[in-house]
Amino acid sequence: MAIVHLLPDRDRSLRRHHPWIYTGAIARIEGTPTTGATIQVVDVGGKPMGSGAFSPHSQIAVRMWTFDPAEAVDEAFFRRRIARALAARAALPELAATNAYRLIHGESDGLPGLIVDRYGDYLVCQLTSAGADLHGGLFAALLQELCPEVKGIYERSDVDSREKEGLPPEMGLLAGAEPPPQIEIHEGACRFLVDVRKDQKTGFYLDQRDNRALVARYAAGREVLNCFAYTGAFGLHALAGGATAVVQLDSAARALTVARANAELSGLGERQSEYVEGNAFSILRDYRNAGRCFDLVILDPPKLAAHAGQVEQACRAYKDVNLLAFKVLRPGGLLFTFSCSGNLGADLFQKIVADAALDARRDAAIVHRLSQAGDHPVGLPFPEGGYLKGLLVRAH
Ligand code: SAH
Repeated sequence: MAIVHLLPDRDRSLRRHHPWIYTGAIARIEGTPTTGATIQVVDVGGKPMGSGAFSPHSQIAVRMWTFDPAEAVDEAFFRRRIARALAARAALPELAATNAYRLIHGESDGLPGLIVDRYGDYLVCQLTSAGADLHGGLFAALLQELCPEVKGIYERSDVDSREKEGLPPEMGLLAGAEPPPQIEIHEGACRFLVDVRKDQKTGFYLDQRDNRALVARYAAGREVLNCFAYTGAFGLHALAGGATAVVQLDSAARALTVARANAELSGLGERQSEYVEGNAFSILRDYRNAGRCFDLVILDPPKLAAHAGQVEQACRAYKDVNLLAFKVLRPGGLLFTFSCSGNLGADLFQKIVADAALDARRDAAIVHRLSQAGDHPVGLPFPEGGYLKGLLVRAH
């Protein structure tokens, strides 16, 4: 096994079990590890600190599999880690009401680079690092062994982050049967169609499940605007919770077509729904200019800061869209506002929303702080695992 020697004083984050080693922390590499190979890591004194996967093309040169120098990284190791992640999901009572959830959340489940989502009888995998990519076949075999009820495992490794690892995008069947063109999932009272081949992410925004349930609880008697609606999930939960009307707004026509189908499937097709295709920023502006108002607004934009260099620009966009949302909220209205940009922290996000309220001349207060669902855990040594933040704000 090749050995990575760390520079003096560059072992501190590793001692706190943060799983990433940047190239800048490495003094030298002994041996010639291949892409994704397991390598040993030693401190400046040559003391072993564990082992990880080597990414020759990435700024993150090593992702740790284990911090125990005595633990072998073999089939039994991966079986233990996957079984541990499955046991953690089995212990989440909130998952009883759904058949779609994240089974493995990468670093936070001790499996850097491996994402596995469950949609009914099928699993969808994302292999985002060289190490995870190398073991893709083994992961699929172990998932079949540990989840015998699963019919097929599909790969959706078409994510930008693979480029940094020097890996091409990959899609296709990993094991078992081909998933059908549409898989029907349910989340509480609502039903959704998921196309694991074409839809965004692995098919559905599973991380927002708890927040959708909260919207349902607050929606009764309210007129709702669901911005960045995707396939309508927040809006449908609002209708199920007793909303009087919902506007589903998204720039993707295909997502709105599925949103309509989901409303039918959920038995909510007869309720008052409007589907609006367009740019949320300009449509919110139109509503403001026309004096059109709502009692509950949801803002769940895509990741506006994909990397650190985009944070400043993203802040302006978050501020603009939140300001417009305050402008279209009736007195006593509720704003559910989110950011899934990992580079933008919860404190900064709160400041942005506060600035937006100020500029909109609205007196507002946080009712709840929101985050990603429990099947997307955040490893304590790995704050980067927590990317979704949100606020439920009441505007007076
Ligand atoms: N709230 C959704 C997930 C939203 S994902 C859920 O719970 O399922 C973000 C969505 O924003 C995507 O569907 C994307 O098509 C849409 N989008 C991206 N930019 C947009 C824009 N400028 N205006 C409106 N929608 C946009």
